[in-house]
Amino acid sequence: MKAPLIVAIDGPSGVGKTTTSKLVAHALNLPHIDTGAMYRAIGLAATRAGIDVRDADALETLASNTHIEFVPGEPPRVMLDGEDITALIRTPEISMAASHVSAVPAVRRVLVRLQKELGRRNGGVLEGRDIGTKVFPQTPHKFFLTADPRVRAQRRHAELAAKGTPVPFETVLAEALQRDEQDSTRADSPLSYDETYTVIDTAGLSIDEVVKAIVRAVRTRVP
Ligand code: C5P
Repeated sequence: MKAPLIVAIDGPSGVGKTTTSKLVAHALNLPHIDTGAMYRAIGLAATRAGIDVRDADALETLASNTHIEFVPGEPPRVMLDGEDITALIRTPEISMAASHVSAVPAVRRVLVRLQKELGRRNGGVLEGRDIGTKVFPQTPHKFFLTADPRVRAQRRHAELAAKGTPVPFETVLAEALQRDEQDSTRADSPLSYDETYTVIDTAGLSIDEVVKAIVRAVRTRVP
């Protein structure tokens, strides 16, 4: 049996991973798997349960007893113990909670298992921070998106304003820098890449150009 096609798209917050991954998945006819949404789900569950996001023991229990289901589709739905929480996990508060809980190894263990199961089932375009380093290190299709933090913050700032929930630019920038710092310096699976990745600086490129570059690279390598 042919191994499922896995495309790893990693990078920091606000770099355009979600829009890019969605379009790449569509072009390659693969499921789009947004792994950040899963960490956000645990962040939401912890916040609701009043668990301190730095309390590793309580988070381990929570992660082991929480049922997260990820339903690929357009849009993909994230279910927390049967409840559709897709729309609830996109706030700045939950972004920060996700970043905190994602530093806890037990949380990562549970979610990485789920990500592997999903990927093995039908392949997929998986976006995250550690897809090419930890979740599917064997895939030859690894891309790391980068962009200057101010460029990323400008994009997120515009996105929030368009959604009708404006946040001052300096706040968005400060939160992006804090999340980058937390995600890059944690002991378990820090945000990083190695020589097996293709690095794409998205600052001067349109989404379409980034998508085309990735799809072309994957097709070149797939027999
Ligand atoms: O990608 P997104 O911004 O939705 O991710 C939310 C948070 O989840 C990130 O800041 C990061 O801490 C965590 N995350 C992770 N590993 C992944 C995906 C997301 O640690 N594969």
